[in-house]
Amino acid sequence: MSDYILQAENLSVSYGDFIAVENASFKVARGSITTLIGANGAGKSTMLKALLGENKPRAGKVIFENEDITGMKPNVIVRKGLTMSPEGSCVFDEMTVRENLLMGCYQKRAAAKKEELFERVYSMFPILKEKDKQLSSYLSGGQRQMLAIARAIMADPKMIICDEISLGLAPVVIGEIYEKIAEINASGVTFLIVDQDVGRSLEHSDYSYVVVKGGIVMEGKSADLPVEEVKDAYFGINKYA
Ligand code: ATP
Repeated sequence: MSDYILQAENLSVSYGDFIAVENASFKVARGSITTLIGANGAGKSTMLKALLGENKPRAGKVIFENEDITGMKPNVIVRKGLTMSPEGSCVFDEMTVRENLLMGCYQKRAAAKKEELFERVYSMFPILKEKDKQLSSYLSGGQRQMLAIARAIMADPKMIICDEISLGLAPVVIGEIYEKIAEINASGVTFLIVDQDVGRSLEHSDYSYVVVKGGIVMEGKSADLPVEEVKDAYFGINKYA
């Protein structure tokens, strides 16, 4: 078994003539929390979509659990154990908390253990259990983000990809979300996270990649990466201009 659950090899993705990601390679160690750090428009979401089969790379490969999954359909990829927790704004407002969670376990394998998954999610997020029958539109921003993560867990994944984990949330709430992620990670789920905040990304992850203009410009153990240089890259200053 490879030490890496996911590998992106020389990925390139275009929107028409515009090259959004070019020759990007990164790996996610099994059991780790890995982050992609980068400014608005750097290409992070485009990379995530390529991993999940939501866009088709012009070149390169995505390997998940030693299998080439490049170009596979998103539902096939979810079945293999790779799932996405979108921004909290992507929960379905017109549905209850329970109905939102049910959307996460539509695949046969997860649906077969629906009750077990509900128990797991509700013991991890008691606030969601309390609000089980409420419409999601009544949830706070932090609760919506928790619901988005909980919905990903309902797919019984080996790995969760989280986009823009802290968008618009108060620092104390973001702290609680990272605590939950650490708890889920300790239960054996690998994470690839996108967060716009450099300090927070480095603090809460094992390994980080810095994305600038569609490519990876720096990588390393999060504890060892020089914060100031990561910030220079992020803001496109000094040698990263
Ligand atoms: P953000 O944090 O703002 O989402 P990002 O790092 O995730 O930024 P992407 O959303 O991947 O960046 O965008 C990378 C580049 O591709 C940007 O220049 C963006 O304008 C462009 N882009 C993204 N989606 C499309 C699309 N559907 N059509 C055309 N260009 C796109």
